[in-house]
Amino acid sequence: MRIITTERIPIKLWLDNIDRETLQQVKNLANFPFTHHHIALMPDAHVGYGMPIGGVAATIGVVIPNAVGVDIGCGVRAVRTSLTSIEPSELKKIVARIRETIPLGFNHHKKPRPAKLMPDLSTAISESSLPVIAREFEKGRYQLGTLGGGNHFIEIQMGNDGHIWLMIHSGSRNIGYRIAGYYNQLAKDFHKSGGLKIDPKWQLDYLPICSTNGSNYFTEMEYCVRFAAANRKEMMSRVCAIIADTDPTATFAPAVDIAHNYASKEHHFGEDVIVHRKGATKAVKDGIGIIPGSQGSNSFIVKGLGAPESFMSCSHGAGRKLGRKQARRQLNLAREIEFLKKRGVIHAIRHKKDLDEAAGAYKDVHEVLENQQDLVEKTVTLSPLAVVKG
Ligand code: 5GP
Ligand code: MN
Ligand code: MN
Repeated sequence: MRIITTERIPIKLWLDNIDRETLQQVKNLANFPFTHHHIALMPDAHVGYGMPIGGVAATIGVVIPNAVGVDIGCGVRAVRTSLTSIEPSELKKIVARIRETIPLGFNHHKKPRPAKLMPDLSTAISESSLPVIAREFEKGRYQLGTLGGGNHFIEIQMGNDGHIWLMIHSGSRNIGYRIAGYYNQLAKDFHKSGGLKIDPKWQLDYLPICSTNGSNYFTEMEYCVRFAAANRKEMMSRVCAIIADTDPTATFAPAVDIAHNYASKEHHFGEDVIVHRKGATKAVKDGIGIIPGSQGSNSFIVKGLGAPESFMSCSHGAGRKLGRKQARRQLNLAREIEFLKKRGVIHAIRHKKDLDEAAGAYKDVHEVLENQQDLVEKTVTLSPLAVVKG
């Protein structure tokens, strides 16, 4: 870890190389009047909207929608199965059945899922406390248990613990997107009308947590985090059912499920703060974490070390090395396919447009892990066998 000082609070970085744009964004966060103690940047960091992906920022009294991101609650679920191998021919069938059963990309269910599968609204839906969810709840029932596009994936992996693992990366679908957009607009309006004057180019519009809009954002954001987890749970139970169909002896360990785009109320460095993790996950002492790499590299199950310097966080993946357009331009389709073929992965690269999700678009996950040895310890190393992308 290294430290960069600013006019206000310092930045702690767990990476050696940082591009100009990403650095500018963390500097803006460090100079933002409500951030506390320091800004942490995980080793998988890259530029984002307002705040880098891989950023961790603690604020006092305010919440920043752009510091959570648009796919609120996006995260990863992993399950260890009792299986120790799968025949390649079986694997192909399983992949085909996953593709038939789980809506991918922009697709959703034709019929709504039972309302009881949706996260509990605990307090009845009220227009005043959950305005966006009140509007989106019914549509959400068509989205629960659907993967979404691009970076989201369902992967079957071989663990170095001798077990087959299942991993799902997905978020809160359209609900989270709506909430992020709605409150970011309210934050912009607040900025214009009454908030502290901060350069609008920073894209760090905020809401006071004690205001109606701020506390509503927090409630709706937390609902999205639960919705995203329910979404992954629903898909995982379908994948497990498909596996159990092909091998009735298969059993499944309790799932590990973690979010990597969210804000939470925590206590750090002497203050009650709102920790924004945008493309970062919690790594409390002995907590289990998941660090996916790419469809052509290892992924890891990790154990947190509870380091205060990262606000008890770690990287959420390997992180992008190339932007989407850049990846399509720079990577070679035949070479990426050949690489996956050599590794024996049933993969999701078909066309030039899929190159933005190729292994070459992501950073070296081993290096990313080396850079955060003070934050997490590896427990299981996973190798991809088959991947389904949105
Ligand atoms: P996000 O897109 O949510 O910012 O990042 C999730 C992380 O998942 C990325 O940083 C990347 O390292 C990892 N990742 C992306 N695609 C795949 C995939 O197909 N398989 C695995 N195992 N990891 C992936
Ligand atoms: Mn996502
Ligand atoms: Mn994600």
